[in-house]
Amino acid sequence: MTAQSAILATETPETHADWRALAERLRTERGLETRAYIDDAFVAAIGGETFTTANPATGEPLAEVASCDAADAEAAVVVARRAFEAGEWSRRAPGERKAVLLRLAELMEAHRHELALLDSLDMGKPVSSAMGDMAGAIGCIRHHAESIDKLYGEIAPTGEDSLGLVMREPLGVVASIVPWNFPLMMTAWKIGPALAAGNSVILKPSEKSPLSALRLAQLTREAGLPRGVFQVLPGFGHTVGKALALSMEVDCLAFTGSTGVGKQLMQYAGQSNLKKVFLECGGKSPNLIFADCKDLDRVAEHAAAAIFHNQGEVCIAGSRLLVENSIREAFVDKVLAAAERMQPGDPLDPASFMGAIVDETQHARILEYIRRGVEEGATLRAGGQALGGEGQNGKGLFIGPTVFDGVTDRMAIGREEIFGPVLAVFGFDTEEEAVRLANDSDYGLAAGLWSQDIDRIMRVTRRLRSGQVFVNNWADMDQTVPFGGVKQSGNGRDKSHHSLEEYSDLKAVWMSLTPAP
Ligand code: NAD
Repeated sequence: MTAQSAILATETPETHADWRALAERLRTERGLETRAYIDDAFVAAIGGETFTTANPATGEPLAEVASCDAADAEAAVVVARRAFEAGEWSRRAPGERKAVLLRLAELMEAHRHELALLDSLDMGKPVSSAMGDMAGAIGCIRHHAESIDKLYGEIAPTGEDSLGLVMREPLGVVASIVPWNFPLMMTAWKIGPALAAGNSVILKPSEKSPLSALRLAQLTREAGLPRGVFQVLPGFGHTVGKALALSMEVDCLAFTGSTGVGKQLMQYAGQSNLKKVFLECGGKSPNLIFADCKDLDRVAEHAAAAIFHNQGEVCIAGSRLLVENSIREAFVDKVLAAAERMQPGDPLDPASFMGAIVDETQHARILEYIRRGVEEGATLRAGGQALGGEGQNGKGLFIGPTVFDGVTDRMAIGREEIFGPVLAVFGFDTEEEAVRLANDSDYGLAAGLWSQDIDRIMRVTRRLRSGQVFVNNWADMDQTVPFGGVKQSGNGRDKSHHSLEEYSDLKAVWMSLTPAP
């Protein structure tokens, strides 16, 4: 560990005051890395442009960050291709790649408080939740590091005159474009398998949360990743993101973000070189509550956490609550009581369950959906207003847990992804109606169902059109289980060995076993 990286690695903040002190030290002693990371160097954007990233819990600017553009994308792509062809990483023995990635995981572990703090400051999530993200991110890097030297090729069952070998090869240059809601964890889900498989990776973090990615770049260098194998281009989607997506030298786009941008990326791939496009997109996930549940208080607590965790800025937020009408009134009361305990607070207070909304645009968008919900005739049972005094200076962007009852599948709040702390409650009378409502969506990322009846659980689980189904839990997670959606929620899978497979191509080799001519 270098002297520089040791500054904050020794800190183990626990209390609100500890986290605030650490934030201050980060700013005054360390300083934040704000430049792009290209070809093993931290550099200004070629055009000299910068953008401001701000702390949404206080409204105060955090840093001026390099705003990369097409020229930076082009430069990084040349470097990535060169590194790939040189083979120092792409052809390195998997066991050696594993050692480097395990070192990276160790460094991330040593700096987990600092990385969590950067995400919390940059996008407003509670620091306790950001610490959970770090565990997921580090576990992901470790998992793929450990997997890569245990993957075997195949010998196909051909006739005896030939030998059919099936080998896995890295794709080449992978551009990974990620969102802001889980900045470092989404990054790890992409770069872990892509790097383990031997690719060169160019990361474009969201313009709303670039800081942890740049700190990670410093750690990859310290871990010993060869020059040019990992690069970070902060900047906007329509500039540097689009340039990467249109590049003829990028072999794969690994994307997490909105469905609209996912569709654009597929078009860019078609307009350029037919690069592979893995998409993890949006959701409007249904959570089905059947009247036979034994402990409705506990279910209500989970149903509230399913939407209010991370301020509702979660792709798999349980944003549609479908409740059997016979228990609906009582159940909604319990959800309201649980929501009351989840009010937002200063993200740096480890006791805060919710933090700040990422920026003014998202804040205004959420409030506009709430206005439309009222206008369309849903019943506002809780929340619905902008708050402000939860941060340290009264200027932050906060919205309390908001619950609408009496929502129908024709209302915007019942169909569209809001990406904020807004719960839409629907009623149903029969299992058939519950399944119909649950599947009546463009999205298919996650679904939950709560019941004691195993026959019903099996029937309904089979019929839900969703990449993942949570039975009597919401968002149980493990690195060993694939994560992704169907329909317009995307076509890729993060996590598990299935994601590792996405970052390699199959090569078939025919060896003739007859005497050589
Ligand atoms: P977004 O689509 O606006 O942006 C995602 C990334 O794409 C950002 O880095 C952005 O700069 C970039 N981008 C935007 N326009 C681009 C363009 N024209 N070309 C190339 N890149 C472009 O999404 P967001 O607001 O950052 O994140 C929220 C969305 O992400 C939600 O829809 C959420 O459901 C989704 N999400 C999905 C998952 C999942 O695993 N399915 C996980 C987290 C978030």
